[in-house]
Amino acid sequence: MAASLVFRLHDKGPQLVREVLLERGWEEYDEGEREEEDWNLYWRGTAFRNSEFQKLLPWQRLNHHPQTVGITRKDFLARNLRRMRVAFGSALYHFSPTAFILPSEYTRFLAEYSKLRLSRGPSVYWICKPVGLSRGRGIFLFENIKDLVYDCSVIIQRYISNPLLISGYKFDLRIYVCVQSFNPLTVYMHQEGLVRFGTEKYSLSSLRNLYAHLTNTSINKFGPFYKAHKERVGQGCKWTMSKFRHFLSGQDINELLLWQRINNIVTLTLLAIAPTVPSCPNCVELFGFDILIDVKFKPWLLEVNYSPALTLDCQADITVKKGLIGDLIDLMNYTSKDGLREDAYHNCKSKSHWFPANKFSRVPLPLLSKFKEPKFLKKTSGIKTSQAQALPLIKSRHQPESSYQRRFRQRSYVSDLQRHLPPVDFSNINAAKGRIRNATDTKNYPNKTLNLKPRTVSRTSVSVVNRQTRPALARWLSDNRSLHVSEVTNHDDAETEAELQLPGETDVSSLIPNVPQRGLGFRRTAASWKLQNMHSGSHRQVSSPLGEAKALNGQHIPPLRAGNFIRTFPFNGATLKASQHKLDVKLVMLELHKLTAELASSKSDKTKCGRGGKKVVDGEEDFDSLLWGPKVPPLLSDCLKST
Ligand code: ADP
Repeated sequence: MAASLVFRLHDKGPQLVREVLLERGWEEYDEGEREEEDWNLYWRGTAFRNSEFQKLLPWQRLNHHPQTVGITRKDFLARNLRRMRVAFGSALYHFSPTAFILPSEYTRFLAEYSKLRLSRGPSVYWICKPVGLSRGRGIFLFENIKDLVYDCSVIIQRYISNPLLISGYKFDLRIYVCVQSFNPLTVYMHQEGLVRFGTEKYSLSSLRNLYAHLTNTSINKFGPFYKAHKERVGQGCKWTMSKFRHFLSGQDINELLLWQRINNIVTLTLLAIAPTVPSCPNCVELFGFDILIDVKFKPWLLEVNYSPALTLDCQADITVKKGLIGDLIDLMNYTSKDGLREDAYHNCKSKSHWFPANKFSRVPLPLLSKFKEPKFLKKTSGIKTSQAQALPLIKSRHQPESSYQRRFRQRSYVSDLQRHLPPVDFSNINAAKGRIRNATDTKNYPNKTLNLKPRTVSRTSVSVVNRQTRPALARWLSDNRSLHVSEVTNHDDAETEAELQLPGETDVSSLIPNVPQRGLGFRRTAASWKLQNMHSGSHRQVSSPLGEAKALNGQHIPPLRAGNFIRTFPFNGATLKASQHKLDVKLVMLELHKLTAELASSKSDKTKCGRGGKKVVDGEEDFDSLLWGPKVPPLLSDCLKST
């Protein structure tokens, strides 16, 4: 029988991920029992090191892309959005409050503060947030600059002082966004997000009352009114997005336009970093976008969270987050069993005299430790990629190849591999490092992306990458800077900076929400596959999450949806094309602008889009998308028809 899928959790968390995967029949990685590479998914709350991305084997996936800190750290986000505003105009990029990074931009802040004070009087408010903290820690509001006190790097943002209120309570939206790939950019947004309330009535006369001004659960759950029944809001401080949709349906607004503007915020924010994120096809990332809506129904981006909280504090959390993780796993598109990993594993095990059973007996591999690099290799650091790929791969005596990697290299798994997961493309890195294959391997690996031996890169070799087609990757490597655990990002699930990671998870209920498969569900077109049912001990037939890849004019079309994840990018043929090869940011913006203008010109009442009886099967000639947001997400083409 083929091996179950195996997940690996860093620092024992998050508990919710464990629970969902175990319920799906996965096994948890045990480092005492298993080889270091014997897993399919490695999940951690903090960033992976460069070497972890480089060592990835074809059956393995990580829950972070490299180098996304450009949007997940408050000061980097402010800087990147400012850059985009300058490059592409403030009409598109007017969705984040004006921000200054202090102390370096103190003079600029002072100038803006003085200008506004003169023109608008004292009714302008500011919010100060330490860049290295999360979960509302260290945040305060001020109106007068004399109240601004800070002793670390902070960002000062214009405070959105006219938020939309529900029965007098402030709220913001937590939107879950999965970037399935940065290259080509492929984005899904989850229909079921969270609405997070302040627990005291909003008033500008009490700027110090954090329960009225901040919507973080980590703050409000300690507030005196957390458990009280609050008018319309109810107990606690969270709603599901479904409940919010119900609230919206009673408002006199163009609902579709609101959802599309939120959708635009997500896409435009990702565009700020997408061209510079190194390609890593085996990575998937879940971001938490925090959106505030003002009284004019304009959505504002407050921040992007790197590791959105997966703790379960209340029923809304259980309903939303369990479904979210399930859908995320579907989006990762695993097959039910991993014969590929198992095959490599068993082949290694049968050579037990050089393949130790567990980490305690692990010793340097004799074959590798005896290996001597031939002299000609020393000249290869500056060779061009194409030459390097044609040459044989020579193992380094300093960095022994793992037994998995060796076995994998010794056999041709190409066809298996293509059926399972997209290969990790490190060919350029390897070329830059002067890593080369032996003749046998070249025969076994017609697919050039299957170079499983990335190594650390020298300065010389980086320039080789530079001359190739991947300047972003070259820059990343030349920084020689791994995104260590200490990287400061907006986590709301874990401590940040150099703080220790705390598990901090609460116990979870075993209740799994019934995720509706509505509309144009992906399951309809899916191929069958087997998933072991752990409860009955038997196998049951279930659908493959994402089915077969479809193509439009030779371009791969990502599925419309996976559970409640709706594909929001690419959203039409033009953006599909623009996202292939080199991302055409300008063209994407044009398309977004066109779509939004069309939705804006639709009736200002609650426009309802019918399906118009049109049958669209994902991957067929019509490349269509669903509009993220509405209760029953309509097809974009139908929305535009009805305007
Ligand atoms: P943290 O990472 O500490 O959670 P956020 O930027 O998310 O920091 O801010 C915490 C909360 O403060 C938000 O959830 C929101 O309620 C409020 N907030 C933050 N920035 C603004 C702003 N510019 N205008 C209005 N409210 C804000």
